[in-house]
Amino acid sequence: MKRNRNAGILIVDDLPFMRTAIREILNAEGLTVAGEAENGRKCLEFYYRNPVELVLLDITMPVMDGIETLKKLKRMDRNVRVVMCSAMGQDKYIIRSIQLGARDFIVKPFKPERIISAVRKAIG
Ligand SMILES: [Mg+2]
Repeated sequence: MKRNRNAGILIVDDLPFMRTAIREILNAEGLTVAGEAENGRKCLEFYYRNPVELVLLDITMPVMDGIETLKKLKRMDRNVRVVMCSAMGQDKYIIRSIQLGARDFIVKPFKPERIISAVRKAIG
């Protein structure tokens, strides 16, 4: 499916405080947050209606995890831009995510500069 991309970043994480922390980091840099989702299914619903520039995608989430979500996002839009966010000790997911087409991989807890550089690189 060829789709036009809408402005902004979608933050996907099951933890409200994590979504808020990421939102504040992005806003402080003048980057637009288009929305938030608490699991993979809500991410897919959001992206279908609003194909944003970039999805920041947590791995461990209820309902649908980040790896499954990444696969389905790619099926919906093969040019989707995704940066994965994961807790430490989940190195096995890094390679899998890159194989599935993620642009980058951030390990939590992260420094604000790390998010900003990954986001800027991904949306060029
Ligand atoms: Mg999580």
